[in-house]
Amino acid sequence: MESSSPATVSAGHGPGPAPADLLRRLRARGAGDPVTHVERVPARAGVPAPWPSWAPAELRAAFTRRGVVAPWQHQAQAATLAYEGDHVVVATGTASGKSLAYQLPALATLLADPRATVLYLAPTKALAADQLRAVAALELEGVRPACYDGDTPRAEREWIRRHSRFVLTNPDMLHHGILPGHAQWSGFLRRLAYVVIDECHTYRGVFGSHVAHVLRRLRRQCARFGATPVFVLASATSGDPATAAGRLTGLPVTAVTEDASPRGGVTFALWEPPLLPPDSGAAPPDSSSVPGQAAGDHDDLRQVRRSALRETADLLADTVAEGVRTLAFVRSRKGAEVVAANARRSLDDAVPGLGGRVAAYRGGYLREERRELERALLHGDLLGLASTNALELGVDLVGLDAVLICGYPGTRASLWQQAGRAGRSGQEALAVLVARDDPLDTYLVHHPEAIFGAPVEATVLDPANRYVLAPQLACAAVEAPLTPADLVLFGDGAKEAVDELVAAGALRQRPTGWYWRHRERPEVDLRGEGGAPIAVVESSTGRLLGTVDGGSSHFLLHPGAVYLHQGVSYVVDELDLADGCALVHVEEPDWSTHARDVTDLSVVSVRSYVDAGPVGMFLGEVDVTSQVVSYQRRRIATGEVIDTRPLDLPARELRTVAVWFTLSPQSLALAGVQSADVPGALHAAEHAAIGLLPLMATCDRWDIGGLSTAVHADTEAPTVFVYDGHPGGAGFAERAYGTASAWLRATRDAIAECGCETGCPSCVQSPKCGNGNNPLSKPDAIRVLDVVLANLPE
Ligand SMILES: [Zn+2]
Ligand SMILES: [Zn+2]
Repeated sequence: MESSSPATVSAGHGPGPAPADLLRRLRARGAGDPVTHVERVPARAGVPAPWPSWAPAELRAAFTRRGVVAPWQHQAQAATLAYEGDHVVVATGTASGKSLAYQLPALATLLADPRATVLYLAPTKALAADQLRAVAALELEGVRPACYDGDTPRAEREWIRRHSRFVLTNPDMLHHGILPGHAQWSGFLRRLAYVVIDECHTYRGVFGSHVAHVLRRLRRQCARFGATPVFVLASATSGDPATAAGRLTGLPVTAVTEDASPRGGVTFALWEPPLLPPDSGAAPPDSSSVPGQAAGDHDDLRQVRRSALRETADLLADTVAEGVRTLAFVRSRKGAEVVAANARRSLDDAVPGLGGRVAAYRGGYLREERRELERALLHGDLLGLASTNALELGVDLVGLDAVLICGYPGTRASLWQQAGRAGRSGQEALAVLVARDDPLDTYLVHHPEAIFGAPVEATVLDPANRYVLAPQLACAAVEAPLTPADLVLFGDGAKEAVDELVAAGALRQRPTGWYWRHRERPEVDLRGEGGAPIAVVESSTGRLLGTVDGGSSHFLLHPGAVYLHQGVSYVVDELDLADGCALVHVEEPDWSTHARDVTDLSVVSVRSYVDAGPVGMFLGEVDVTSQVVSYQRRRIATGEVIDTRPLDLPARELRTVAVWFTLSPQSLALAGVQSADVPGALHAAEHAAIGLLPLMATCDRWDIGGLSTAVHADTEAPTVFVYDGHPGGAGFAERAYGTASAWLRATRDAIAECGCETGCPSCVQSPKCGNGNNPLSKPDAIRVLDVVLANLPE
């Protein structure tokens, strides 16, 4: 705070200091320079294109009335591809106007052919409602757009099925309502010209694999009625969107990725909080993450960085003192409150009363309260706001002078969405990514090309997962008997899944196909795991707060767990696995809870492998047995471990897909790894490899697990396993296998580039380690990965 003069506080109306000057003052504050990279993202003028000649005058006029003078080039390109019958995915930045790319061909076709229909799918009802407003505002004759989802009154449903030509819904409704009722929809499906899949990057993992089959079921019904709709998909920027869209739809898809929309200039700084001296002892670990993601617990061994929360709070105080309107994104509500409180305190110390211009924002505000916040920030009554990502949904804040991002938000799409809040029209803005204690954050601040270069993270899904395929084939068989041609449509593993369903008595084979044998339909939840989800119930009111996957329920809902739901804190009284529910009460203790598990793994089969001399790289099926055995309570403010409490939960079995690598003991000895250090070397490499996987595939910590051992019974060698945390696999391990050398190179670099000496949460320590981060050897982990990379072909 010493450098900031309170006299510079402005009302927030005028132009703030230039971003480069502001950044210079911020980084001059402490001893070392925390900035690892500054990227000037230049302003970009949009590249407009003429309206495509096929777009009818009536449609152009409607868009012009809504303020769209001409399409941007990527919109015109994607629209024309779709109009000409190509399946297309448009994968460009936030606010680049992806909707015009599908609205143009879809609406042009509806106007040209008075019988044609369009089906629009969004991941959420809210997005479908937004899109409905946008299409309805065009006031096109005879289109009659309508939402058809769980909230649609029964009385309106029949009218929509008969008369709407632009139906907006979600995959769940398609799965539960439209496809089972295809007879009532035959008129609509027979004339279906386009299927629009918005925000298609959200269909990933197990959910994405289910949706992929729902789309195949849709294509099958259309084909029965003689329709072959064109698919138009909209995606956040990602690595290889054409492949992901192709897997999702089962069709060849052309990608349009060149973003021609205009954007403001941003000075983007990558900020790594400094390491604290090992003996300072006073540093609280970062508690900005969800429970279970705080730093490791071997305090005596730990060397930590200054917390990203502290750093963000100081930056917020400094920018506010400069009169700069600033939004700080923090991952948890508690973290946002800590940032706001610390910034307020620093400002009040400098000038009493100044702290009042900083606030914390959390989810659950009423619409009027949100509008009031927007107003206060717009007018400069409020200069600083610390927020969770809740802000992404529901508050319209644009044109801020600076955005602080406390911790990498998990995907590049979210990062740019948050950074995109900065920048008033025509003015440069500042964005700062403050790295948390996490191997991926560490890697990113040292590898700006991973943020500013071509995207590598891909949306992955695995339609061949038999835990998804078999129930989806059962649903399809109810809708119409399965034929040999359908086995091709549903892809790899379909024949085996049908055979299993026949053996289980669910299907009966007749000369005309496979028939569903039961009276009732199979119960299949697209967002579930196969196993029943656990209902979270507030005991005093009986209110259902939400559901948690069976897979993560032992971690999140064990007795005593602190469970966060929409920003409100609950404590679990009881987890009743037999009834599938957890009873909770409202309570906000000043600790968080962190479950521990022990894991056992055996190899079932090998799908594919690379024999690279002393190194082997494998993809295959494994059985994982894990048991949550205890949990720790840690103080939120300091990260201090209060105690560890035992739990009595049953072991869980999981058959899934894993990637693993083996090394010969000789190669390790040659690389200088003492045999006593092999377990710590492999363990450290495993932690960092798991931490870096989100760089290659969009996933979060519940999606992946790992195990390492100096000698494994099935491989008979030192081995590191990384597996999908979902029954049957969800594509993460497969992606890791496919990008193994890039993935492990990034892992190696993240460890080597962390400035700590013996390993820290920024490199090799893991918040979810079942062994208390013991043993770990940072230098030997680098040697292990060097051996792998030296032998593995690129
Ligand atoms: Zn480190
Ligand atoms: Zn571990």
